[in-house]
Amino acid sequence: MVKSGDIVTMALSKGRILEDTLPFLRNMGIELVDDPEKSRKLIVETSDPGLRIIIVRASDVPTYVQRGAADLGVAGKDILIEHDGDGLFEPLDLKIAQCKLMVAVPKGVDYDSVLHSGSRLRVATKYVKAARDHFARKGVHVDLIKLYGSMELAPLVGLADAIVDLVSSGKTLQANKLQAVEEIHQISSRLIVSATALKLKHDLVQPIIDAFGSKIA
Ligand code: ATP
Ligand code: MG
Repeated sequence: MVKSGDIVTMALSKGRILEDTLPFLRNMGIELVDDPEKSRKLIVETSDPGLRIIIVRASDVPTYVQRGAADLGVAGKDILIEHDGDGLFEPLDLKIAQCKLMVAVPKGVDYDSVLHSGSRLRVATKYVKAARDHFARKGVHVDLIKLYGSMELAPLVGLADAIVDLVSSGKTLQANKLQAVEEIHQISSRLIVSATALKLKHDLVQPIIDAFGSKIA
């Protein structure tokens, strides 16, 4: 019998992170009992009675892990930058869900001359902290406009002069007549572990970290 204190909980978000994390679990001989993309279950058992998966929003993963409601999780570096990292360890770069956090402006706009014009740059983004730090380092004054999605729309309708967003193929930018002009961070997803789990469940959690580590491409 598995006692509840012996169960390890891993927080994952649906979509690319779940998809790209499954091979790490399979490599350990672990399969999910239900398909989270189809079932509405938020707690998913696995073939290992000692490991369960909870399904949360990508941006909520660090919160569950930090507060010990999950022992481990997988989260994008973009999300981790925005989150206050106390009580969170980030032992592995899994090198999955790779993309870049970039500044983009409408095609045809001369970004350098806009920067040097001295007027405040209106920047729409979901990544307020990363954007604020980036422009502060450059000494550029910005008005940050917090959005929760579809940043590409903002410059097209006059809400912003620029956006800070994740870019992979660049197709979304192109479809909206935008161009990437500056890279802020390389992004990939990380295995994160709660400080508490690392202390109190070390013998259960460390083998998972090791197994994930051995599978990184
Ligand atoms: P939600 O869809 O719930 O608002 P989200 O957009 O953050 O959340 P996903 O689109 O699944 O959720 O993104 C999860 C993570 O994958 C992001 O935090 C980022 O690290 C990474 N990611 C996002 N877009 C891309 C992309 N186009 N290519 C590669 N990785 C990406
Ligand atoms: Mg998304």
